[in-house]
Amino acid sequence: MTQKLKSYVQGRWFEGVGEGTPVRDPTSEEVLATVSTEGLDFEAALTMARAEGLSAIRSVGFAQRAGWLTALASALHAHRDELLELSTRSGGNTRSDAKFDVDGATQTMAFYAKLGESLGSTNFLLDGESESLTRSPRYIGQHVRVPRDGVAVHINAFNFPAWGMGEKLAVSLLAGMPTIVKPATSTLPLAVRMMEIMVDADVLPHGVLSLVAGSCGDLVDRLDHQDVLAFTGSALTGNVLRSRPNIIASTVRVNVEADSLNAAVLGPDVEPSSDTFDLFVREVTRDMTQKSGQKCTAIRRVLVPAQIVDAVIAALKEEILRVRVGNPALKDVRMGPLATESQLKDVREGIQRLTAVASFVHGDGGRGDLVGVEPDRGYFLAPCLLVVTDPDTAHIVHDLEVFGPVTTIVPYDGSSARASSLIRRGRGGLVSSIYSDDREFIQGVVLGVASHHGRLTIGSARVAEHSPGPGTVLPSMIHGGPGRAGGGEELGGLRGLNFYLQRTAVQGEKPLLQRIFGS
Ligand code: NAP
Repeated sequence: MTQKLKSYVQGRWFEGVGEGTPVRDPTSEEVLATVSTEGLDFEAALTMARAEGLSAIRSVGFAQRAGWLTALASALHAHRDELLELSTRSGGNTRSDAKFDVDGATQTMAFYAKLGESLGSTNFLLDGESESLTRSPRYIGQHVRVPRDGVAVHINAFNFPAWGMGEKLAVSLLAGMPTIVKPATSTLPLAVRMMEIMVDADVLPHGVLSLVAGSCGDLVDRLDHQDVLAFTGSALTGNVLRSRPNIIASTVRVNVEADSLNAAVLGPDVEPSSDTFDLFVREVTRDMTQKSGQKCTAIRRVLVPAQIVDAVIAALKEEILRVRVGNPALKDVRMGPLATESQLKDVREGIQRLTAVASFVHGDGGRGDLVGVEPDRGYFLAPCLLVVTDPDTAHIVHDLEVFGPVTTIVPYDGSSARASSLIRRGRGGLVSSIYSDDREFIQGVVLGVASHHGRLTIGSARVAEHSPGPGTVLPSMIHGGPGRAGGGEELGGLRGLNFYLQRTAVQGEKPLLQRIFGS
């Protein structure tokens, strides 16, 4: 009998009624499980989290919660091999892609555990120094940040079931908010297994962490002004959620992490075969093919000085050809399938739309040569590299995020001003990258596009050995971006806590404030 994945709410496992939605192995298309939240009482789940969960999480301070994170991260790490194998089966991830997701989750949790250790046992954080407000030194003001008195709801995207859950809950739990996680349905098995491991570890008090396996029904419409909603997914869903009448009427704090047409720009100074050129080729190829291009941070637009477009195409084709595509469970396969049939359909349609203004230089929207895969089985697509002839009229290249192994080369004249104006046509992004050793050019692009991005990475000969590439989100650096990218911000060390904390200015007598806040 097919397994039905369960939610974990009100401190117990809940199995939805009805047939449920099937969840498939994207390599074989075999049904792995079904999912249903029919019959789940979302109001009761929220009430329990707001009552028992809130009082339990607030009965301890930051440092104790950091201890919880350490214990959860090590419980998950102890099941690493099992989680990696499940990531391959349920998400179509190669072992390397699976590590990126699963280790990314535990490492981010461990990172926040470490940060939290130094925050002490209180439930408030001082925000800056106290301020003198009048002539009297006795009357001062102090900004503080305290956990919000509600529940954090996390709605996550399908592409990172492990990291997406880990990176968000590390921060909300450390901040002191009980949390309800709703992972995406299509890659749910991994998130549910992680939840089972965390529940079995018996670290968290009842009501502190819940998981909704499947549709979250009217949960969002039940949120209140002390609750927060952190969403990761498409810009379309993000906009639907943040414009729900209840979200607006109750002023629920919302963070949206959405689409992005991330760009990589090659500087005019970079010679083919130089260290910087090789770094650029490696990173563009890795971003196209890692997790089959299903990364919000993946490079979608590659800006190349017009005179070396042919050399770049030749080098990228050579590198892409090294990537074996097929059954992700096989050792030498470096790219697996897309996660779902609908994902494959969307990507194919996206490629079709791109071909109105761009032509193929590698791949053709088909499956290509596959290793270890049954004929016509699985949601496979060979990497697809395109080039536009007229970037000015190729609006779709700057507007449509094709969420798969697809990248488009955009020739430009080699000036930082032109590169910046093309990059800005993405209308707000998560991350863009600059590959150059010309400091003036780099400065021009950084200052030309910083206001449109959450993050920029600079690849140059001096750091070629150390660059993790633009696609790797590090917990110490912020993740998010303006405009199309959702306007949100996560991580960035302690900055990430701000979303879950209320900043309050407290004015009064100095000794009294010193007594309350110990400052
Ligand atoms: P999606 O279709 O928007 O779904 C995202 C999440 O929202 C899923 O958990 C989904 O649940 C849920 N959802 C959908 N409709 C909802 C509704 N009406 N009410 C409440 N929840 C709803 O996005 P996706 O296909 O999973 O992810 C791909 C997109 O996410 C890409 O565009 C990518 O760029 C973006 N992304 C962004 C980031 C970032 O950090 N900026 C990271 C990863 C991905 P179900 O699965 O149950 O439908």
